[in-house]
Amino acid sequence: MHFQKEITDWYHIHKRDLPWRNTRDAYVIWLSEIILQQTRVEQGLPYFNRFLQEYPTVSHFAGATETQVLKLWQGLGYYSRGRNMLHTAQQIEELYNGVFPVSYDELIRLKGIGEYTAAAISSFSSGEAKAVLDGNVFRVLARYFGISTPINSTEGKKQFSELAQSMMDGQDPMVYNQAIMEFGALQCKPKSPDCSVCPLQMDCYAFRQKEVGSLPVKLKKLVKRNRYFNYMILQNGADILVRRRNPGDIWQHLYDFPLIETEEEAGIFNLELYERIREEYGKDVIIHPVMQMKHVLTHQIIYVQFFALDNYIINFKGNTDIKWVGRAELDDLPQPKVISSFINAHLTK
Ligand code: SF4
Repeated sequence: MHFQKEITDWYHIHKRDLPWRNTRDAYVIWLSEIILQQTRVEQGLPYFNRFLQEYPTVSHFAGATETQVLKLWQGLGYYSRGRNMLHTAQQIEELYNGVFPVSYDELIRLKGIGEYTAAAISSFSSGEAKAVLDGNVFRVLARYFGISTPINSTEGKKQFSELAQSMMDGQDPMVYNQAIMEFGALQCKPKSPDCSVCPLQMDCYAFRQKEVGSLPVKLKKLVKRNRYFNYMILQNGADILVRRRNPGDIWQHLYDFPLIETEEEAGIFNLELYERIREEYGKDVIIHPVMQMKHVLTHQIIYVQFFALDNYIINFKGNTDIKWVGRAELDDLPQPKVISSFINAHLTK
């Protein structure tokens, strides 16, 4: 109870006077919540006012065209939010005759309304005891209770959501939800929160253990690397040239075909790529683009192109990684999926 009391006391003193705080109108709360997602309050406020002026009720909103909504949205970014809002408004007009629903269970079924928004609208408009869980709430709970489960993991979402809900017991949902979000936004800020003036300081795990900078924990999103593989298909009668892949890269020791990797997407008629093919396989080589495909791995996206070559000159230059194989042997060699797909689709048995 100490936690909840300190947070709500702090809120009554420090809360910002924002227009959507003085209403229980679910439509107005919805407008503010969607507009403020991924947007700072200062940037979102004029948009909120403009939308409310243009569309004073959800029925007015539902009657708008997509072009009108996007025009009003211009400059706010993430335009799918604007489009989704129009769908939500039209759904409410159809299903609820323009009366904005206020219960969590009804809200969550609407297109474009997720768990956070449903909890915010239901608690702020009808006082339903649904705890909100946004970035601010994650941060406050992770630091105060010292929880290092990543907040963007399935386990973390479950753990934080149960904790947030249990903290709401016995509280006024409307005030408590507003209070913890505002506390996270203004006091327990992501970077350099001023813990010296924080009312939770004495019991805060992160402050006592000097872990404010390392909580909450977030799993790093993998940035996939794009690669561009151009495979050369060289046939000699019934034989085909294959290559054993070296260590130090993907598909180590699997078999593919002679490869030219480019830094950027080349396309099937790229002059630079064709020049490289001629350098390697003779100036009179005839190049036939065969197929393109995309292959997604955990850390990489491979854009693959296959070219069949005729009239080539091949120089093994002591390269023991490449060899001619017949179809039976080819089928026995381990291959990455892109290669076996190509073989099945384009090479006759
Ligand atoms: S003491 Fe610091 S880290 Fe802990 S809740 Fe307060 S502001 Fe956040």
